[in-house]
Amino acid sequence: MSEITAIRGMNDILPSDTACWQFLERTIAAVVSSYGYGEIRLPVVEKTALFKRSIGEVTDIVEKEMYTFDDRNGDSMTLRPEGTAGCVRAAIQQGLLNTIQRLWYTGPMFRYERPQKGRQRQFHQTGVEAFGVATPDMDAELILLCARLWQQLGLADSMELQLNSIGSADARRAYRAALVEFLETKVDMLDEDSQRRLHSNPLRILDSKNAQTQALLDDGPSLEDFLDEEAQADFSRLCELLQAAGVKYVVNRRLVRGLDYYNKTVFEWVTQKLGAQGTVCAGGRYDGLVAQLGGKATPAIGCAMGMERLVLLLLEQSEPLTASHIDAYVVAVGEEAQCQALATTEKLRDQLPQLRIVQHAGGGSFKSQMKKADKSGAQAALIWGEDEVAAQTVTVKSLRASDGERATQVTVALQDLENTLRTALAH
Ligand code: ATP
Ligand code: MG
Repeated sequence: MSEITAIRGMNDILPSDTACWQFLERTIAAVVSSYGYGEIRLPVVEKTALFKRSIGEVTDIVEKEMYTFDDRNGDSMTLRPEGTAGCVRAAIQQGLLNTIQRLWYTGPMFRYERPQKGRQRQFHQTGVEAFGVATPDMDAELILLCARLWQQLGLADSMELQLNSIGSADARRAYRAALVEFLETKVDMLDEDSQRRLHSNPLRILDSKNAQTQALLDDGPSLEDFLDEEAQADFSRLCELLQAAGVKYVVNRRLVRGLDYYNKTVFEWVTQKLGAQGTVCAGGRYDGLVAQLGGKATPAIGCAMGMERLVLLLLEQSEPLTASHIDAYVVAVGEEAQCQALATTEKLRDQLPQLRIVQHAGGGSFKSQMKKADKSGAQAALIWGEDEVAAQTVTVKSLRASDGERATQVTVALQDLENTLRTALAH
């Protein structure tokens, strides 16, 4: 029979890597909760209209990256490509927006992109969203939360914060017109992607990776000159707050973000260590989105971090996180031995719940079971044979004696096993 493999770009995460994922998830949960954010769990599938209306019809995501299908009833649904839209939908629908809300979520997202290192079709994001505050102190809080997280993960040195303000929708409209007017005279010199975007989504040209396009833009209009007074004041205040808190940043006037719903502050945390997939976390203000999705006007700001990219950074660090090891492997030869081993091991799990014990399964000779015990990487084997059953004892054999040291082996009464293991395997 031919083998059925996973879908391209949708990866298995194996036990050898999950220790790293769990460390990341634990650290995030601890940091966000220390800022008073509450976890919200959202559906993976939403109505297609939700993403079209929020992310924007002419964005890369909606135009060519969504997994959209009709369900059996003929209704169009989409696997979520990001989390903000669903979070806003839920906050409106569940009536959460009467007060300031600080929410976070984590889980898989889906985009039909070209798979490569740090870019999958099923990937994971953790998102953090704050609703109900329009002032830049909230922007600062979110950025400080990220900075603390990088610190706790040991990644602070790998991250650079890039910051910009894209102003109000009006300011952006005026700038967009000026940019299009400028670029229309140079259309032949633009790269292919940028030519395509010139009339659909011209702001995206600003973050073109093409050097010639970037050079062209040097002579073009600057978004900064179009910002309204309020956006300028808020941006200066945010910079002041970040300086006061000792957070370093770089102002990047070409940072725009690929989703329609942003206004004022936008930011990205970027690393040099992941090549082209260098943006690890991205976000910004989206004061208009709640109303756009049918709620009452509510200012908001949020960001999303790419979990795969964070895991790649963590795995690159000098001290790799060791996969969870096994403490003891239970060897039992004979039916009666198996009964006694099973019961005693259950008791041990009550007494020493932090211990990781693997019970041999599938029978076999003493020799073959001991081979498995050795291979398991366990510190010790707990052995039940005929002698042990008869004497109500168990043999504890160390499996990881260092060079020159003799492997120790003791036979102890069943009731002494707990204490023996406490001492032998203290960790
Ligand atoms: P990029 O420019 O890398 O495509 P983006 O602007 O599309 O990113 P966002 O929609 O802002 O990304 O998502 C926030 C973060 O989620 C990104 O900074 C990145 O870390 C991560 N991310 C986005 N798309 C993917 C993907 N296909 N695979 C893995 N991580 C992703
Ligand atoms: Mg993208």
